[in-house]
Amino acid sequence: MKMSPRAKFYLGTSVFILFGLVLISRVVDTQEYWWGIAFFSWIAIGSLALAQIRCPHCGTSVAYQGKLGQLSIYAGLVRTNCQNCGYDLTKK
Ligand SMILES: [Zn+2]
Repeated sequence: MKMSPRAKFYLGTSVFILFGLVLISRVVDTQEYWWGIAFFSWIAIGSLALAQIRCPHCGTSVAYQGKLGQLSIYAGLVRTNCQNCGYDLTKK
């Protein structure tokens, strides 16, 4: 299945949030700190995995939102075009 980088990122984010909700509900239900650890590991691993979805043209993470002074801004949303090279991220 061929997907645009943007679609891939949103699919990844949905899975990430759904799984996060399942884990956090386990934390609340069981009060077991293991589930807490699982939850925070999931957040860390998930964010890293999502950051691996990159612009096919220049390799910049699709979560890249541009620069604010010296700071690179990343967020859980994807612009229509790559903020680094302008590549159309909705293209398959
Ligand atoms: Zn790019």
